[in-house]
Amino acid sequence: MRDTSLFIISGPSGVGKSTLVRQVLADLRGLEFSVSHTSRAKRPGEVEGKDYYFISRDEFETMIREDRFIEWAVVHGQYYGTSKREIEKKAAQADVILDIDVQGAQQIKDKMKRGIFIFIFPPSFEELKKRLYKRGESEAALQKRLESARKELRFYSQFDYLIINDQLDKAVTELEAVILATRCSLEKQTKNILPILQSFLDEF
Ligand code: ADP
Ligand code: 5GP
Repeated sequence: MRDTSLFIISGPSGVGKSTLVRQVLADLRGLEFSVSHTSRAKRPGEVEGKDYYFISRDEFETMIREDRFIEWAVVHGQYYGTSKREIEKKAAQADVILDIDVQGAQQIKDKMKRGIFIFIFPPSFEELKKRLYKRGESEAALQKRLESARKELRFYSQFDYLIINDQLDKAVTELEAVILATRCSLEKQTKNILPILQSFLDEF
């Protein structure tokens, strides 16, 4: 678990986080998605246990009381959280990518003292509105999400990397670049180079 990395992706609703994450998971090996719990209703096409674990508000509150979340927050009036079990399970075998809001990202930073924090920016307010609209959000949900977006953008300076999702393929490449560069860091590569160094010592 200590050798694997946590990539925390945040940014306003509708900016394209799920789209980006889906593509990166398809492209890169050794990467698992952290499936969150939520009290919000399932959207058409979403799959239980793959997109989210869909639970009731009561069940969510029980999990809070039992201290089963690494982080949780109320986002747009619904509960969302990352369970300790999910991270323990996924991070034991691979790097893990989390798609969570800025409050959750802050909690991970404070509690776990690890993680690579990546903030996704929309190209503009107008474009964010268009994307939310295209996703079929109701007028009320759209307004709520645009209002939250204004607040969420203020947190960008707490993040390690900023990606502007204008062209999707460029943003995917940039996100993959961050992940691959992290994997090549001195800290991550030390265990991999030991046998190489050893092979040189064996020559003498
Ligand atoms: P989030 O997970 O951040 O809430 P989604 O991944 O659901 O956002 O994306 C919201 C909408 O925007 C979707 O309809 C998606 O297809 C679209 N979208 C994502 N990235 C881009 C992009 N670079 N250009 C245009 N549309 C995009
Ligand atoms: P959506 O309802 O559009 O899937 O997600 C709404 C928001 O909740 C997004 O900003 C998403 O990143 C965030 N979110 C999803 N899962 C979690 C989680 O486990 N914890 C927190 N704090 N936010 C989450």
